[in-house]
Amino acid sequence: MDYFSILVVDDEVDFLDTITKRLQKRNINTSGVTSAEEALKLMDKRLFDVVVLDIKMPGGMDGIEALREMKRKAPLTEVILLTGHASVETSIEGMKLGAFDYLLKPVKFEDFMVKLGEAFEKKDQHEQKIRKAKIQELIRHPGRVFHQDKDQE
Ligand SMILES: [Mg+2]
Repeated sequence: MDYFSILVVDDEVDFLDTITKRLQKRNINTSGVTSAEEALKLMDKRLFDVVVLDIKMPGGMDGIEALREMKRKAPLTEVILLTGHASVETSIEGMKLGAFDYLLKPVKFEDFMVKLGEAFEKKDQHEQKIRKAKIQELIRHPGRVFHQDKDQE
């Protein structure tokens, strides 16, 4: 699973350390940061398959604002929200804005892995759809596609 990359964003350092270590043990390429600002900075440099975002973090940017910014920066990256019972409403709002799903804290590692798997699968299917559409476009209008590709270089 080395080709999957995940970013975990949570202000609780113990949780972040534990989850990061357990994912790395499974050979999942995992980064962990403690604020939305750090996460967004990292997303400017690297592409992640899945971001796991704690919706309640002290100070700075709130969870929904961070989610909006993440989806703007990397629309194909799936975002799983971490939420407490008190902020389920916020997570529902987040899902309307494009978050893949949410997990209630405290999170069981098994549940975390299942959700992560689903998010990877969704991203993979989405990317396959885009590839297929590109191929179809190539078959229908070979000139146009080649021309566009050239422009992007
Ligand atoms: Mg928190």
